[in-house]
Amino acid sequence: MLVIGAGQAGLSSAYFLRRAGFPQGTGYVVLDSAPRPGGAWQYRWPTLTLGDVHGIYHLPGMELAAKGMHRPAAEVIPAYFADYEAEFELPVRRPVRVRSVRTGPDRTLVVDSDAGAFAARAVINATGTWGHPFWPHYPGQETFAGRQLHTVDYRGPAEFAGKRVVVVGGGTSAVQLLIEIAKVADTTWVTRRPPIFREEVFSPERGRAAVALVDAAVRAGRPPDSVVSVTGLTSTPAVGEARARGVLDRLPMFERITAEGVSWADGRHRRADMILWCTGWRAVLEHLAPLHLRGPGGGIVMDGTRVVAQPRLHLVGYGPSASTIGANRAGRAAVHEIRKLLAETDTAETDTAETDSDETDSDETGADPVAVG
Ligand code: FAD
Repeated sequence: MLVIGAGQAGLSSAYFLRRAGFPQGTGYVVLDSAPRPGGAWQYRWPTLTLGDVHGIYHLPGMELAAKGMHRPAAEVIPAYFADYEAEFELPVRRPVRVRSVRTGPDRTLVVDSDAGAFAARAVINATGTWGHPFWPHYPGQETFAGRQLHTVDYRGPAEFAGKRVVVVGGGTSAVQLLIEIAKVADTTWVTRRPPIFREEVFSPERGRAAVALVDAAVRAGRPPDSVVSVTGLTSTPAVGEARARGVLDRLPMFERITAEGVSWADGRHRRADMILWCTGWRAVLEHLAPLHLRGPGGGIVMDGTRVVAQPRLHLVGYGPSASTIGANRAGRAAVHEIRKLLAETDTAETDTAETDSDETDSDETGADPVAVG
């Protein structure tokens, strides 16, 4: 078994593989492209504190014993992940980037990586979204004389001091960054749709309803919205204060970008030195391209965590499970299904002793892949 990615989704999957009795190394391995433990948390901006991300769930089997909600999430959570990997002796190899996944002989998937090729009877893909920031395109974008950045580039408000900044995007990250930057800069907020601030406590029922919407999309083969995008924005005291100061007065999307700023269809123009695109992410799935999984709907048809067109592949932390609680549950569900699949295959193999050589992508050459589970 091979897990790609060691964020919340990959570690949760590895935990359940271990618990199911797969031996480390020969039974399963985790390949992670990041230099250190922590998944995407190691890259979050330093001003994002643990208190700002209070919605995170513990990994299965070990609580986050964090003290100090004011400490950067980018320090606390990677340290927790490192302890977790050590505690459960999870076989994480890093930095190892997976380049492609293809079908191999004898009902395997072959995973080509910086550390060579691995043959696995099942693959859990848990590569998250951080590596695939989404930048929409607007006319004139390339003519802008100022600087354009994405949320992934944000390192704190200092570099915005005294500047005119347009912040694009209606999600939680946009609101958090806007509140910080507005303290030192002249900000303009633009979003496609009017933002909805949720005043009431977020109930488990509403959470389930939001996840169900995303689940329906991926079952139908549509690309998923993020779970957070369908849950609305949380009205924290900082948000209330920013709204009272007018920082969160939002304008609709501009029509074009000029050298000096942004323009709307009604002739309005706003000068800007910087445009910050808080426009989210897409799932990191490029390495799965050889499997030709995308259907006419533009997405991958899923049944829970299982890819319908390739039952040996599970996507964990994707679509409805792209949250810390979702990733925990999905890791467990994926391992449960993989065990079932292997039990069925083993029975079929003793019955027929057939081979699957016609399934193989035979154009690949090189050394024999290392078998992992
Ligand atoms: P990641 O943490 O991104 O881990 C993916 C791992 O895969 C990385 O280590 C990466 O290096 C590796 N990888 C990627 N491609 C490859 C490859 N080709 N080969 C090998 N390795 C690869 N969710 C919540 O539930 N609560 C929150 O409070 C919350 N706050 C958030 C705040 C921000 C700013 C953002 C952007 C997201 C937040 N989320 C939150 C969503 C959150 O990202 C997920 O819930 C969760 O952390 C994602 O875990 P993951 O394992 O799917 O992905």
